Amino acid sequence: MSVAGRHAGALAKLFERGARVTPGGVHSPVRSFRAVGSPPMALIEARGARVWDAYGREYLDWIGAWGPALLGHNPPAIASAVTHQLERGALFGLAAPHEVELAERITARVPGLDMVRFVVSGTEAAMTALRLARAATGRSAVVKFAGCYHGHGDAFLIRAGSGAAGAPESPGVTEGAVRDTLVARYNDLADVDRAFHDADGKIAAVFVEPVAGNMGCVPPEPGFLEGLRARCDTTGALLVFDEVITGFRLGPGGASSLFGVRADLVLLGKALGGGLPLAAYGGRRDLMRLIAPEGPVYQAGTFAAHPLSIAAGLAVLDALDADPQLWSRLDRTTERLAQGLEAAARETGVPVRVQRVGSMWTVFFMWTVVLAEKGVRSWDDAGGVDREKFAAFHRGMLSRGVLLPPSPFETAFTSASHGEPEVEITLAAARAALAEAA
Ligand SMILES: *Cc1c(COP(=O)(O)O)cnc(C)c1O
Repeated sequence: MSVAGRHAGALAKLFERGARVTPGGVHSPVRSFRAVGSPPMALIEARGARVWDAYGREYLDWIGAWGPALLGHNPPAIASAVTHQLERGALFGLAAPHEVELAERITARVPGLDMVRFVVSGTEAAMTALRLARAATGRSAVVKFAGCYHGHGDAFLIRAGSGAAGAPESPGVTEGAVRDTLVARYNDLADVDRAFHDADGKIAAVFVEPVAGNMGCVPPEPGFLEGLRARCDTTGALLVFDEVITGFRLGPGGASSLFGVRADLVLLGKALGGGLPLAAYGGRRDLMRLIAPEGPVYQAGTFAAHPLSIAAGLAVLDALDADPQLWSRLDRTTERLAQGLEAAARETGVPVRVQRVGSMWTVFFMWTVVLAEKGVRSWDDAGGVDREKFAAFHRGMLSRGVLLPPSPFETAFTSASHGEPEVEITLAAARAALAEAA
């Protein structure tokens, strides 16, 4: 058998074992590779822009662990900060000075973030922010956008994008939860007005990804975020920016400073922990004071503000503070990649649209040139995406050692470890994979 054949056989066997003891053989649906018709990838090492699978094959990686690897995989400074903390204890279950320092530094850089609470996952941050918004407003309904993902809390599992994209509402979500969630079209303020009207004054909060990352990369159109702010101001609903992806990835202060629109509550995660589990919610002081033990809104966690994660978070901020040019470098690298991909697609006649904001990017394979020119503005445009062609492209890239997110509706991430050589390798692979897919 060929090396590639043995390799594929070994991966398939591991997957078979996994699938006997874990649903689908993976611990998060996005890892399944079902959308691209390959067995799930199993990795044993990740460093910089590269990852190694369980059978020794190396890949150039653009998944970036789905966002956390802003500085690349396993940056030495983070590894050493975590090791240093580990020597003093992994978990205290009580307060610690480092978490105070991290909270001070985060609140100082994100506009409107007066106070912050550290949690383990973005899911927890979103669920708590919704509970807080409901408590603060005395209202029950929430507006979210089709294709936006805010973790797997019941209220958000309705047209949720990412691993849930294309799936119907998850069974197990109660009718009450469905009733309280109003879904609007991204980039469509008239549809937001419709949702506000339908909810008849009962909207506690509008949750939005300021740049959508879970239906592929979809930028907000000019005026969209401002329009949400204005509608929240007139109705008394709270505006919640889910910056779990965009926080620190799109700039030192996240999307709120990039777009100049201030939210009432902000969610952070992914890049914040540099690879360790760390997320946060925060915002206006009067709102955050409602959280226990200062106020009545309950949220707690055995692993909250985990010392290893806090150590990693401080190391991430140190790295960002030491490198203010990082974001313009990421932007330039991603721009070269996006232009190269579009040029390669034109040469092969494949209708493709590359959408990107800073280091977030997605290659949308569209059915026609007209659809490619229109691009994807909301989940309604997802029907224009040729999933089969994307799957073929993905397999072609994978066989050439380039790892892209295994779904047509995910965002790829450029990291500080990606430079000109990585762009060139990717474009060479893409020219061949596009020619095959054409
Ligand atoms: C990943 C993600 C979440 C959920 O975070 P987890 O840590 O996976 O629970 C929430 N919101 C957005 C925008 C995300 O991309």
